[in-house]
Amino acid sequence: MAIQNNTLPSQSNDEKAADTQALKAWAKNHKGLLEVLLDAYCIVSPSNQVVDFNVAFTELCGESYRKILKIGNFCELLNTELCPHQCPAKQIATSGRALRLDELSGASKAYPQLQMILAGVPVVAEDGNILGSLITIRNVSAESELQKKYDERKVESVTDGLTRLFNKAFMEDMLIRTAKTSMREIRGFSVAMCDIDHFKKVNDTYGHQAGDYVLVTVAQMLAGETRESDLVGRFGGEEFIVILSNSDVAGALIFAERFRNRVANTQIFFEGKKIPVTVSLGTATFLEKWSPDINAERCVKELINKADTALYYSKANGRNQVRQFEKIESKQDPTDKTMPSEKATPSEKK
Ligand code: GH3
Ligand code: MG
Ligand code: MG
Repeated sequence: MAIQNNTLPSQSNDEKAADTQALKAWAKNHKGLLEVLLDAYCIVSPSNQVVDFNVAFTELCGESYRKILKIGNFCELLNTELCPHQCPAKQIATSGRALRLDELSGASKAYPQLQMILAGVPVVAEDGNILGSLITIRNVSAESELQKKYDERKVESVTDGLTRLFNKAFMEDMLIRTAKTSMREIRGFSVAMCDIDHFKKVNDTYGHQAGDYVLVTVAQMLAGETRESDLVGRFGGEEFIVILSNSDVAGALIFAERFRNRVANTQIFFEGKKIPVTVSLGTATFLEKWSPDINAERCVKELINKADTALYYSKANGRNQVRQFEKIESKQDPTDKTMPSEKATPSEKK
């Protein structure tokens, strides 16, 4: 009795034997086709018995030809993560449809941790009855492991080891990309440069480990204050940069003040000792329009310099402050210690 109408009725032993015979006959008739398959393959009956297979399948299972026939059960030979209840062979036989699983894990005697691509089609008799399934399995364990290592390295290459924020090189790349998109789509964005105040004193007073802990804590707070579309990076020792997408001059100030306030109002303890921490920020907003001779790299350098200048004013004005480049009236050489007059900003209230 073969399966019809997408159902898997219970079979008597005689019926199972008849199905197995029909499948074996099908395999014999299609030997020429099956021999060209490079992957491991097996032909499985609706009662999950492996009735035909190639050498690659014996290698994948780690069992001899005779042992495979003796064990018979597909899930015992190749225990996929879907076995036994949603066993791929059963799924194909019951649904009558082809199946492809690109990231299937499982185990066999030869491979306790197997990653595979499994593809299968129903084996259909001339009268339309489903006799079982033909399943091919590609062992991609090595490739998966390589891919995993590659992905890890890729993440490592763009992140800072201590804070897990993006590193300076990646942030510079992203700034250029963001500037190009911004010019094309005519929408501005802002950057906020942030520096921990008197951080050297933290190291000197509480030790380098405490300093590291403060860096990680501030980095986490910074990441927590940003939107998903924003990018946060460590730009230097105790300096961070945020790319605030779609953010204008006013938006940049709201973000910077919110973060400054959060740090100032958070108690940071290391080994039982409270460490006073504040940050200073400088923001600058990018509003360039695209033109044929515009240079995104140069624009980004200018934008970083502007945010740096604003940060310098925050420091020179007493720290724990926010300054916006756009609100500074006479932009002078940042090394000039005399403070210029500024337009009023909310952060001046402090
Ligand atoms: P300001 O308020 O003007 O920014 O003063 P500051 O002390 O924060 O700045 P300064 O540039 O004088 O000192 C920065 C310190 O940051 C010196 C350096 O040892 C420390 N630092 C840089 N990277 C790390 C790090 O990864 N871990 C620790 N613990 N300290 C670091
Ligand atoms: Mg500092
Ligand atoms: Mg610094």
